[in-house]
Amino acid sequence: MLARSPLLRTTIPRYTSTLRHFSTTKPNMVKILAVLYTAGKYGEEQPRLLGTVENKLGIADWLKEQGHEFVVTADKDTPDSEFRKHVKDAEIVITTPFHPAYLTAEVLESAKNLKCCITAGVGSDHVDLDVANKRNISVYEVTGSNVVSVAEHVVMTILVLVRNFVPANRQYLEGGWNVAEVARQSYDLEGKVVGTLGSGRIGSRVLQRLKPFDCAKLTYYDYQRNEQLEKDTGAQRVEDLKQFLGELDVLTINCPLYEGTKGLINAEKLSWMKKGAWIVNTARGAIVNAADIRAALESGHIAGYGGDVTDRQPPEPSHDFYHMKSAVKYEHGVGGNAMTPHISGTSIDAQARYAAGVKEILTNYFGGKAQLPANVIVEGGAYATKAYGQRK
Ligand code: NAD
Repeated sequence: MLARSPLLRTTIPRYTSTLRHFSTTKPNMVKILAVLYTAGKYGEEQPRLLGTVENKLGIADWLKEQGHEFVVTADKDTPDSEFRKHVKDAEIVITTPFHPAYLTAEVLESAKNLKCCITAGVGSDHVDLDVANKRNISVYEVTGSNVVSVAEHVVMTILVLVRNFVPANRQYLEGGWNVAEVARQSYDLEGKVVGTLGSGRIGSRVLQRLKPFDCAKLTYYDYQRNEQLEKDTGAQRVEDLKQFLGELDVLTINCPLYEGTKGLINAEKLSWMKKGAWIVNTARGAIVNAADIRAALESGHIAGYGGDVTDRQPPEPSHDFYHMKSAVKYEHGVGGNAMTPHISGTSIDAQARYAAGVKEILTNYFGGKAQLPANVIVEGGAYATKAYGQRK
């Protein structure tokens, strides 16, 4: 049986489907809740949009054959949302960073039956990991599933900003032809200093992809040394954050969000950067202070900011990232703003990988098998990953 509720809001459609295939739940049958984004008409047009309410990660029939109860919704933001209703008795919750259902301490408190959270993608900061540990709830993600997708988006955004593509394209599409207006702020990436904050899977792939651009220097800041990255790219590790930021023409942010990185790039850290630097953040919006970024861009201290993440997703219409623009003005639009919705890690190729990864995690869970170590964020009441800060 497939029950679909109508759209209840204008901007973010509520859309829930429940698949119940056995009226009496067998003891080993579980309730699984997935909170995914809505595809609407695009879900039919592109069935490979797997990480959506319509296409249900491609696992609905598979779960049906096993008799599990599978609830899928996009409705997540209000206290009476489908998410808040169904999380109360779900054993497994599948969420996605692209449309995050926030498993806060309060929500986890209400989730009496919850044993396992699975992130369809990479980055599990939308789960209160400390509370998950206290409650012995496991948190898994599909590590590596979209790291190439994100690294490509980062390289693209760096070029978009440095080459000043956005105002050039706007000018052209509006029928303009004014070379000087755009060229006055358009540079080569060659000869610039580029550094990644976080040198894990994405950060290292970004620097690998930048190597042929003949940058003046590639650097990284991370409490974990990455010798392979140094060998592959010649990247230098900088251990002092002030020195790291102070040298950069381009900062790319590629670390997880947790208490140690929340608000890390604020007015003070921005003041350590060179005037005219560019920043690309596809990691998490809350790693930067959005108001400070806007102020630095509008004062001309930074030349551009781009990425695909904001501190709340979706952001409110008044969010600074929607409105920020460079100090340099353009007749046909704005400069210095290379933001997109959260798309970098949800390319069609990435969706195939993280959908398959979710199925594999569920298979292990149902079969009582150990998860791939790289996919384990917290388990058995402790952090398994070394990426969410240095912990005892
Ligand atoms: P990873 O675990 O491979 O690497 C993260 C690195 O960050 C680790 O080396 C860790 O030591 C480092 N780090 C942690 N805290 C740090 C700090 N305070 N300073 C410097 N370095 C620090 O993770 P990854 O696969 O490279 O992904 C990184 C993050 O990117 C994810 O946690 C997620 O938030 C984000 N992400 C975004 C998208 C997207 O679609 N926009 C997709 C995937 C991942």
